[in-house]
Amino acid sequence: MMLNGKQIRHLTLPLWKALIKHIAVQKRAEQQLKACEENFRVLAETVPHQVWTAQPDGSVTYSNQRWYDYTGASPEQALGEEWSQFLHPDDSQHVLMVWHHAVETGNPYEVEYRFREGQTGAYRWFLARGMPMRDDAGQIVKWFGTATNIDEQKRLEEDLRVLAETVPQLVWVKRPDGLYKYTNQRWRDYTGLMLEHMQNDPWPHLQFIHPDDRESNRAHWQHALDTGEMFEHKARLRNGQTGEYRWFLTRAMPVRDEAGQIVKWFGTNTDIEEQKQAEERIKISEENWRMLAETVPQLVWTTQPDGRVDYVNQRYCDYTQATLEHIRDDGWHQIVHPEDIERTLALRRQTLATGEPYEIEYRLKNRQTGEYHWFLTRGLPVRNEAGQIIKWFGTSTDIEDQKRAEQQLKESRENLRVLAETVPQLVWVKRPDGLYKYTNQRWRDYTGLTPQQIQSDRWAFIQFIHPDDQEGHRAHWQHALDTGEMFEHKARLRNGQTGEYRWFLVRAMPVRDEAGQIVKWFGTNTDIEDQVRIEEALRQSQERANALMNSNIIGITIIEGEQIVDANDTYLRMTGYTREDLRAGNMNWRHMTPSEYLDRTFEAHQELATQQSLTPYEKEYVCQDGSRLPALVGAVVLPHQPRQAIAFVLDNSARKELEQRKDTFLSMASHELRTPLTAVKMQTQLVRRRLVKQAHHEAATELSRVEEPIKQLERLIGELLDVSKMQAGRLEYVQGPVNLDVLLREIIDTLQPLHPGHTILLRDAVQISLMGDRDRLGQVFTNLLSNAIKYSPNAKTVEVDLDASPEAVAIRVRDHGLGIPREQRDKIFERFYRAAGPRQREIAGLGMGLYIVAEIVKHYGGTISVESEVGKGSTFTVTLPLTRNA
Ligand code: ADP
Repeated sequence: MMLNGKQIRHLTLPLWKALIKHIAVQKRAEQQLKACEENFRVLAETVPHQVWTAQPDGSVTYSNQRWYDYTGASPEQALGEEWSQFLHPDDSQHVLMVWHHAVETGNPYEVEYRFREGQTGAYRWFLARGMPMRDDAGQIVKWFGTATNIDEQKRLEEDLRVLAETVPQLVWVKRPDGLYKYTNQRWRDYTGLMLEHMQNDPWPHLQFIHPDDRESNRAHWQHALDTGEMFEHKARLRNGQTGEYRWFLTRAMPVRDEAGQIVKWFGTNTDIEEQKQAEERIKISEENWRMLAETVPQLVWTTQPDGRVDYVNQRYCDYTQATLEHIRDDGWHQIVHPEDIERTLALRRQTLATGEPYEIEYRLKNRQTGEYHWFLTRGLPVRNEAGQIIKWFGTSTDIEDQKRAEQQLKESRENLRVLAETVPQLVWVKRPDGLYKYTNQRWRDYTGLTPQQIQSDRWAFIQFIHPDDQEGHRAHWQHALDTGEMFEHKARLRNGQTGEYRWFLVRAMPVRDEAGQIVKWFGTNTDIEDQVRIEEALRQSQERANALMNSNIIGITIIEGEQIVDANDTYLRMTGYTREDLRAGNMNWRHMTPSEYLDRTFEAHQELATQQSLTPYEKEYVCQDGSRLPALVGAVVLPHQPRQAIAFVLDNSARKELEQRKDTFLSMASHELRTPLTAVKMQTQLVRRRLVKQAHHEAATELSRVEEPIKQLERLIGELLDVSKMQAGRLEYVQGPVNLDVLLREIIDTLQPLHPGHTILLRDAVQISLMGDRDRLGQVFTNLLSNAIKYSPNAKTVEVDLDASPEAVAIRVRDHGLGIPREQRDKIFERFYRAAGPRQREIAGLGMGLYIVAEIVKHYGGTISVESEVGKGSTFTVTLPLTRNA
């Protein structure tokens, strides 16, 4: 270090001032020399320096006491060139050379050297200065010299030098003119330059500055030089060895003298290459980060450690329609959904306090559309090496779609769950290993199994399967598990509560993940007990129906409108049609009905339509070959197909034939009976007349007793004949005017005497006449009155009413007798029908009377009806139309 110059000057200044004064005095008066020298001696002994004088040839003539004190030398050792023995051997040659050179040239000099202390033998650094004193002719008359102890400064300088060599910087000192005074080893190693190479260049350092940095370096230097301010500049300096440039921070401080003049610049170059690179890396990574932040599909933001937003990406601005200025501070609060802001702020406060990363979902308003979208926001603190938070990074990801999907999923899951609980089935979900994941309430209620029971054993459910169905069930499951096919099996499952088994249809579908792996099985058990029962019942009834259909006893047809749409074989056989005819639609009941049966048939169909069923009736069919088939036909409307009816057709021909034979027999029998009876009657009358003539009155009277039974027989045979004729449609009616009132009275008059136990009362008689067969109409009244008397053995009266309107006349016959049970009321008008009650059976009869009555009334277009109460009596009403002339 060169610091000592200033100090030395400072230290020796009073001495030099005295010397200059002395020289001036010498110049003025030579004679005062002596006195002056004396003065000088006093001065030289007073100053804190070693002081000496020498002759122009260089030999020392005087040294002050301080010199002697330091060296401990004798006066002889101070004279001539003896003083040089106290020099440090390393310095001795150099010092003597400088001294000799000064003596030769007469120039002042300065030299530093180590000088031995006499007492300790230690060397200390001294700065010696010498100056010649000349006379007026310029001749040197004397040398004056001082030696100042600079040991401390030298050591400080040495320390600083060591320091300068030790620090990792390049260190240098420059003069104000730009020339280097000092550079440390590191400087020289780096630049590869020697000081002497750049002595004459005022900007010597520019040569190793990167060309791009030179201009700004020069400008900075100029500014520092002009203003005396500290110099600071970053530039790339070339490594003299490798030619590589590295970044350095160059700093320089001016050093000034007392007058404030800059005497030198102390400078250091600090290698900041790594720092620069790190900065560069940071810059790049910052740029990358920005790029990333602007590229990612999220809203990206950063905040200061206190939570103040200091960056948002473009997407953020676009979404919120706001700039960073708007968002900074509390601006972002306005875009968070009001329902979410409170918990969001609470979390932010908390995380700012704890420094924990956080995650939160909230809705942010899209200011463009006004809609809120759900966002997932993540905040992460960035810490420095000391662990302090320097920043928060955050991203907000639009999860609206995800949210919606989640919601939908939740809803659909919920729907599914509700559905699973609502459906009438037992619902369950199993894992691929066969263990249950879910069972609905109905499942648990039915089986009575707890989740624990089924979670441990994959075959636990087997226990509530009917033993007979277990094997099949297990096999089916195994197959489904092995193949991944749908599982379907019918089995009886035990109700855990009642122990009862019911039939279930167990079905399960595998659910697969994207890779096609089965992740679960969805299953349902549907109670098919009723179905199974119905199926069984159906099967049985089907069997019965088939048996019926296939029976060869009864013909069965299905009719729709007039068409026979189906028929069993029996019906086809009965009618002679083929199945082909049936299929071709050739079977039509209207066409198959003879004209005389059409009315009855339509009537039957009318009944079917209104009553949904048809009381069996007799009719005939025209067969395929034109022959007739007597049949008994009944029908019902099919309950589920109201347009269709099923008809049962019994072949009635055997019965009809029998009836025919019976009728023929009856007809023949009554004819055969009538002829002998007529003969008996005539013979009896002849005999009786003879007996009367011959006055055998007693015998005649006895014979006359035969007349009444003969009349009875006659009447009976007459009725039989009538019935036969009616049946064959051959009864003849004689037409003539009939006074009903008169007719009725005549009949009553005839009957009354025969039945003294009863009184026949005729009420409200009207004079009315109509055209008709008097005997036949008489038969109507006779039969009704006879029955009334016959079937009221314990009654006293029988009442007859006659009532007329312009259109019709009504005859009412009323008794107070046995009455007729309801179910027999229609049948009593049938041929040979007799009521079955025990009381009626006691009363003789053949069941022909009411048949004849009904036939005659029918012939006249009238009606007959009966009202009756068992045990109380009956009323028969006959109406006959008056307008129609029968
Ligand atoms: P019957 O010869 O048996 O009297 P009918 O044809 O006259 O034959 O009557 C048929 C049946 O009707 C009788 O057997 C009887 O049971 C019943 N009947 C007819 N009239 C009456 C009546 N007034 N009271 C009770 N039953 C009657």
